Amino acid sequence: MKIAWFCIPAHGHTNPTLGLVEEMTRAGHEVRYFSFAMFREKIEKAGATFVPCDDYDLGDGERDAGDRVGKDIAYSTELIVRATLALDPLLTRELGAWRPDLIVSDSVAFWGKLAALKFGIPYVCSTTTFAFNRYSSKYMPQSAGSMIKMLFAMPRVSRALGRLRAAGYPVKSVFDIIANDNDTNTVVYTSKAFQPCAKTFSERYRFIGPSVRPAMEKTEKTAGKTVYISLGTVVSNERLLKNAIEAVRGTDWQVLVSTGETEVAPADVPENVRLYRSVDQMSVLGIADVFLTHCGMNSVSEALWSGVPLVLAPQTPEQGAVARRTAEVGAGQLLRNTDPEAIRCALETVLGQTSYKNAAKAMARSLHACGGVREGREFLEKCAAAGYNKA
Ligand code: UDP
Repeated sequence: MKIAWFCIPAHGHTNPTLGLVEEMTRAGHEVRYFSFAMFREKIEKAGATFVPCDDYDLGDGERDAGDRVGKDIAYSTELIVRATLALDPLLTRELGAWRPDLIVSDSVAFWGKLAALKFGIPYVCSTTTFAFNRYSSKYMPQSAGSMIKMLFAMPRVSRALGRLRAAGYPVKSVFDIIANDNDTNTVVYTSKAFQPCAKTFSERYRFIGPSVRPAMEKTEKTAGKTVYISLGTVVSNERLLKNAIEAVRGTDWQVLVSTGETEVAPADVPENVRLYRSVDQMSVLGIADVFLTHCGMNSVSEALWSGVPLVLAPQTPEQGAVARRTAEVGAGQLLRNTDPEAIRCALETVLGQTSYKNAAKAMARSLHACGGVREGREFLEKCAAAGYNKA
């Protein structure tokens, strides 16, 4: 069958899909992946045809765009409408003639979902964090202020939706775009045990687990306890990394730090600490006893997959949700503050109490027991075969 796949320009949203894309193409299905040049290589490696969206002006390039989306519904709707209308010629050209049997779209690549509505094509949502509904959304609290803003924003929202309708997208309200419900077929790359409020999601939600890349290198364990520190590939927080390095000074732990986007050059790096711009994370997790993380969904999934307990230092609301859930299942401790003393104390606690390790191992079992990309493939095949549901 023919599948059009849509994603936003982010590694954290692209990487988790690639295992399933590869499974689909290996099974003989044709996947055209609508994405951006920086992801071309890995998309093609997964056997899909890359369709570039780089030449279309999707945003307004405002500096605080990332912060405002999600807080300001009028602004978010305008961004979604602008992106969809910018892509409309491409969508019409590619989908109109090619007629895919299925559209799979990242939960925030709304233009994919809108294209499915416009062209009457079966749609599956791909959710690379937790699945959110009115129960699990309490893990990402909205302020009262943003609710009030939402009410006043409605006229702007209506105008933006009017433009979308005029271009042939049959949307009644903004909730048709941003909200998924228990009738929306959805792939989630985690286990039911880790998903908050898992029981409130229907059978249309498939928790297939993460597709974790195997380690490519071997990392040597040189001490009784190994501490791994990383804030992922997007976040930059020099103070936190410097304090973490201070926190482990004078211990007999082996400490590996992936500095990523953070420029950190402390005058004297303690002897037990090694700094790297980037590491083979699965390899490091293979020897780690604790992971101080920014709580990106991929990092936490990989740690839990490896049975490694965590010290949790979330930097965004989405990471806050992942942190809260990890603490709730007992596999990590939330950092009280980012002083060296607090960091040292959290690391000692997680290293010293077996309950954290045991909870991480229990999560590992749940992730390994998921149906994985095979279940994902069967689900997508079933959704395409069921055809378009106009409901
Ligand atoms: N990663 C890596 N080497 C590093 C740091 C991170 O390979 O030194 C990978 C990590 O394995 C994970 C991804 O980068 O798959 C980070 O994704 P995550 O969702 O945790 O955070 P983001 O970088 O998107 O904030």
